[in-house]
Amino acid sequence: MKFGGTSVATAERWQTIGKLAASRRAEGVRVLVVVSALAGVTDALKALSAEMDGGKRKHAAAAIAERHHALAIDMGIELPARVAERLESLAHLAADGPAAGQELAWQAQVQAHGELLSSAMGAAFLSAQHLPTTWVDSRDCLKAVALPNQNERTRLLSAMVEATPDAALQARLAGQGEVFIAQGFIARDDAERTVLLGRGGSDTSAAYFGALLKAARVEIWTDVAGMFSANPRQVPGARLLKRLDYLEAQEIASTGAKVLHPRCLSPLREPRVPLLIKDTNRPELDGTEIGPHLREAVTSVKAISTRKGITLVSMESVGMWQQVGFLSDVFNQFTKHGLSVDLIGSAETNVTVSLDPTENLLDSDAVAALAADLAKVCRVKVIAPCAAVTLVGRGMRSMLHELSSVLAEFGQLRVHLISQSSNNLNLTFVVDEDVVDELLPRLHELLLRSGSLRSDDDVQFGPTWQALYGRGEAQMVPGWWRGERQRLMNLAAERSPRYVYHLPTILERARSLKTLDAVDQCYYAVKANTHPQILKALAAEGLGLESVSPGELQAIDQAVPADTPRLFTPNFARREDYVTALATSASVTLDALHPIEQWGEVFAGHAIMLRVDLGRGLGHHEKVRTGGSSSKFGLPIEHLGRFIECAERHNVRIKGLHAHLGSGILDAAHWGEVYGQLAALADRIGSVEILNIGGGLGVPSHPGEQPLDMIELNRVLSEVKATYPQYKLWMEPGRYLVAESGVLLSRVTQLKAKGEVRYLGTDAGMHNLIRPALYDAWHEIVNLSRLDDAGTTLYQVVGPICESGDVLGNDRRLPETHEGDVMLIAQAGAYGAVMASHYNLRDAADEIVIE
Ligand SMILES: *Cc1c(COP(=O)(O)O)cnc(C)c1O
Repeated sequence: MKFGGTSVATAERWQTIGKLAASRRAEGVRVLVVVSALAGVTDALKALSAEMDGGKRKHAAAAIAERHHALAIDMGIELPARVAERLESLAHLAADGPAAGQELAWQAQVQAHGELLSSAMGAAFLSAQHLPTTWVDSRDCLKAVALPNQNERTRLLSAMVEATPDAALQARLAGQGEVFIAQGFIARDDAERTVLLGRGGSDTSAAYFGALLKAARVEIWTDVAGMFSANPRQVPGARLLKRLDYLEAQEIASTGAKVLHPRCLSPLREPRVPLLIKDTNRPELDGTEIGPHLREAVTSVKAISTRKGITLVSMESVGMWQQVGFLSDVFNQFTKHGLSVDLIGSAETNVTVSLDPTENLLDSDAVAALAADLAKVCRVKVIAPCAAVTLVGRGMRSMLHELSSVLAEFGQLRVHLISQSSNNLNLTFVVDEDVVDELLPRLHELLLRSGSLRSDDDVQFGPTWQALYGRGEAQMVPGWWRGERQRLMNLAAERSPRYVYHLPTILERARSLKTLDAVDQCYYAVKANTHPQILKALAAEGLGLESVSPGELQAIDQAVPADTPRLFTPNFARREDYVTALATSASVTLDALHPIEQWGEVFAGHAIMLRVDLGRGLGHHEKVRTGGSSSKFGLPIEHLGRFIECAERHNVRIKGLHAHLGSGILDAAHWGEVYGQLAALADRIGSVEILNIGGGLGVPSHPGEQPLDMIELNRVLSEVKATYPQYKLWMEPGRYLVAESGVLLSRVTQLKAKGEVRYLGTDAGMHNLIRPALYDAWHEIVNLSRLDDAGTTLYQVVGPICESGDVLGNDRRLPETHEGDVMLIAQAGAYGAVMASHYNLRDAADEIVIE
């Protein structure tokens, strides 16, 4: 168990250490505690050892002595004899100063006192607390090895230890007691000199001890529960990483995470000793476990990290590229200037490398000198400051297809270098430094939303940082169906597959839309779900209904009172469809030049809405984006003049403008921008009274995704409405109202194992719910018959259709499942039943609304 400087600074914190060590003892294991110096003492010793003035050094040593006397009083113990001895030797070292030529060895000796003192204080305190604790000198256990590329400074102040399991040491300690305390940061070399381990020293000591003793595990106790999927200071929604293998953890530690020094993982890999990161203040939290984990885990991006201060050196060949030895000449220059290279990208005529500031003592002089030398063999460009953005996860190559939204984000930036590590663990993008702070939260959200960071797998991912440490987490509300299990089981027993819609949930969403003060009329886009009871209920709540076909208009007519406001917003509809719609009370929307140019007489004397294309699309999947020239919707702005001419010619009044950019948008600012853009266009037309800003209000599906902030949306809309108050504001959400209300119930038909893959077959398939196949949509899937059982097995959840794409859920961790179990697919209320087909001549799922 390793504890850092703040954890050993007060008697109260030592109480905690005592409790934690005793709880491990109670598990029947022996405990070795590794400690750092009291907070601030290492820095004080460093300053002391850099001080030339003997008097000032003595003064500094006295202040350090004072700290330890004060702690003894705080602990309620006599100053331990071992501490008194150490303080005395420190006083001598300070008074004498280094002997000539021995400066580095003297420095190491001075700085080693911090840990020697704190551990001796701890041994005395814990023993006084009825936890007999044996003090161990780490220097008797950790042997530094001299490596050929190390200079004297590195050997003394940043030493390496050869740590292979040591049976003799294990036996020696076993004979001495049950609880031990030792120092982090220090070791001894072949010449019997005290040496230091350098940065991350105490963590590394704990790892060395873990390997030497072949410990059951190493626990690093710190002020946070572990590693997160992104830096939680920048991304409060970052998820705790519960399980990582050594290489993944090392990759995350080396590409940004500060919790653990990357050096401390390699000693543990070979002896397969697991390492646990735990929060000293919240020991009940899971923490991060790093170990030799089985590769059975769901393939997932684990983390995204950023490193700033990256310098790129781009080298353009001047005609000598194919020559033998060219690269070797180039890289020799890096060696000569003491600069180590991190990432490499190469092309026919260019090699670009990054210099990592954590590895290089980078100053601009060194880089300038390098550039001057390189200029003799090639054209050099130094690009700085840059930042590296790294995605980490085992099997990165197999996830590339899921990363399209993330890659698209980089498509809008200047990317200097892309590097995919040869161990298939990371993918790195080097961009300008000033964009990363804003980029990181967005990329994390995209990783969640695209399902490439599998936050649904609770074996790998824990709660968000915000849920653990933040205030007032906007937690995802558990689905209504969790409280209706028996009722749903009964419904599934009657008929299967079966859609069940929960009316109270729909009404709740309708009411939350009413909190949008700036909206004058809300329409429900009925194509999301045309069940007549739902249309009735929403009309009764005061919503209008939006339709896109004569069939939908008819469904509306049959379900709701004649005075319910309605919209007709088709796309590439037939001439007679408009004729039909114009004969009803519906507001008709045109979204092209063709109808008004070719069939102007159809619209003569009518007032219409005009749907425009604002030039960009948004949404959760490429197939639901309805703006931009790659989408077939809307009148391109450059046709607006001609449209107005035709409208005037046929006495058609443009009473409103409309835009709908896509589905599944979770960013409240979007609708404000649309309103602003439409208002600016409306001013050009003159006759416009209404601005319809579309639907597309998203519903989070992956655990941890942030829901649309309705309070923020209200604020955004009220603000733009205040700027352009002359227009009526309409909206037309579909998915938002009904998605969460619906579940698809099915029964398990067959199970099959094929190689390592387990298939779970249900009587529902892509003919009932096509969203997973069409949009890669992620729907939560649970075994309702075994709702309280832990997930143990990874399943491919599939349907009965003769298509390989008939997969409802990929790699779902579920309880061991049996034929006849009832499976529930959540968030199936929107674009579920309405998109069903009769493919394979299989029946449609039954639909039922419950109150
Ligand atoms: C589909 C559609 C909507 C509703 O989209 P959601 O993402 O379900 O909110 C709104 N307006 C138009 C024109 C549509 O085609």
